[in-house]
Amino acid sequence: MTDKVDVAIVGAGPAGLTAAYLLTKAGRSVTVIERDPVYVGGISRTVEHDGYRFDIGGHRFFSKSKEVVDLWNEILPHDFIQRPRMSRIFYEGKFYSYPLRAFEALWNLGPIRSALCMASFAKAKAFPRRDVRSFQDWVTNQFGEKLFSIFFQTYTEKVWGMACHEISADWAAQRIKGLSLGAAVLDGLKRSLGLNKRPNDGMETKTLLESFRYPRKGPGMMWEAARDSVVAGGNRVLMGHSLAQLSEADGTWRVAADGPDGRVTIEAEHVISSAPIRELVGRIHPLPASLPHAMALNYRDFLTVALMIRADDLFPDNWIYIHDPRVQVGRIQNFRSWSPEMVPDEGVACVGLEYFCFAGDGLWSMDDDALVALATRELAVMGLADPATVIGGTVVRQEKAYPVYDDAYKAHVEAIRDELETRYPTLHLVGRNGMHRYNNQDHAMMTAMLTVRNIEAGRRRHDIWTVNEDAEYHEAGDEGAETGRMAALSSERAVPVRLKAA
Ligand SMILES: Cc1cc2nc3c(=O)[nH]c(=O)nc-3n(C[C@H](O)[C@H](O)[C@H](O)COP(=O)(O)OP(=O)(O)OC[C@H]3O[C@@H](n4cnc5c(N)ncnc54)[C@H](O)[C@@H]3O)c2cc1C
Repeated sequence: MTDKVDVAIVGAGPAGLTAAYLLTKAGRSVTVIERDPVYVGGISRTVEHDGYRFDIGGHRFFSKSKEVVDLWNEILPHDFIQRPRMSRIFYEGKFYSYPLRAFEALWNLGPIRSALCMASFAKAKAFPRRDVRSFQDWVTNQFGEKLFSIFFQTYTEKVWGMACHEISADWAAQRIKGLSLGAAVLDGLKRSLGLNKRPNDGMETKTLLESFRYPRKGPGMMWEAARDSVVAGGNRVLMGHSLAQLSEADGTWRVAADGPDGRVTIEAEHVISSAPIRELVGRIHPLPASLPHAMALNYRDFLTVALMIRADDLFPDNWIYIHDPRVQVGRIQNFRSWSPEMVPDEGVACVGLEYFCFAGDGLWSMDDDALVALATRELAVMGLADPATVIGGTVVRQEKAYPVYDDAYKAHVEAIRDELETRYPTLHLVGRNGMHRYNNQDHAMMTAMLTVRNIEAGRRRHDIWTVNEDAEYHEAGDEGAETGRMAALSSERAVPVRLKAA
């Protein structure tokens, strides 16, 4: 079968479907190929199991960009709910504010631990590490060895799969600005002497978004609505179809995709790809010279074990960060807190235990029953749930959840871009793994929105690679407050970079 369309799109995640939606609206013909047999939405999909719905990690809908917010409202005009945000750190049976509040942390740790923390803090101040290169050096100098090991080391190492002494110190400075143990301790002393009326918890004014918008049935609802509009506009979204090969001759692309009923070929003037760069480049015929650069790009993978537990919700938070070194789980989502419609049964809680891993490693390769058993055991170790109350569970794996920023990735991406943009002006890379950028939905969407404008204009008027780094992007600011495209393109999150060997 051969489809002839204006634009072939690889991937029905936020980037691919945004492009398909806008092109359909503009009267263009498009065909989207999507590898997943069932779900659209990519990493932003909502998976359903026995009526329980869950995200691949919870997905907040927040953008400073008015254009993105307007598009969300256009695609899903009636189904957004406003949700309160709550997320805390869990350590040895106690909850701690996120971001950490120094005085509260010392209080919760109890007198002996706090005294040890203060002694190690004093030691770090008296004898700071001189050559501050790593995350570990930076945080230890700031808070002491003891607090570093409790509140910074375990979670960071679980998420990124790198030891803290291998992570560059720059990231610490970006992540932990504003938290001062010295100020909190001084304040505690002043308060105990009756000298300080206004409590200072060691944080400079750092506000987090207190609420966020969320589709009532999860983020997948947004992308299902986008797909439905594309199909209603006469275009096709081919599920269960993987990109097999693409080649260009005389201004026409031939895109081959393998699906359940064999190979489909799409002929198109333009190709928009949100597939991981490593996969895309490996499928271009003839193979680009930059293939070794694409093969050198790395990813961090992720899996969620969703458990149904006969109980009231285990905690009121949307999610909690697990700093306990006795367990491998990194974060736990509580899906009813995202939206009551995600959990069909009153009296049953549905939580998602998130494990950060590498595809092929021990966790990734465990079978589903063993993972459900592990998650159940870990909840018991933390004292959060009795295994006897767990009545069901399922596992969702997400390959390439995080593009890895190692010290060579920028040069690799540049080399690939240089070759592809020069050789193939009608091939457009968009989205998160499509551009190897650690970004949120709004950024992925904005790259697609600008690409559609470039296609309409017949030239690359907008540079979708212009990015400002802004680590606090998702944590502060006013939704839809900015009209410029930078508001969305600057949504890239700060990511730790591995230190170069000394
Ligand atoms: C744990 C976690 C939490 C997150 N939380 C948030 C949040 O709170 N808010 C937020 O806005 N963003 C969040 N994000 C980011 C968000 O998920 C991504 O930015 C967004 O999904 C990227 O969209 P995309 O279309 O570029 O890529 P993807 O979502 O990766 O979609 C790409 C699609 O292409 C398909 N595909 C890939 N290769 C092929 C192929 N060869 N052939 C055919 N199809 C292919 C995939 O199956 C997929 O459907 C989070 C991400 C993670 C991992």
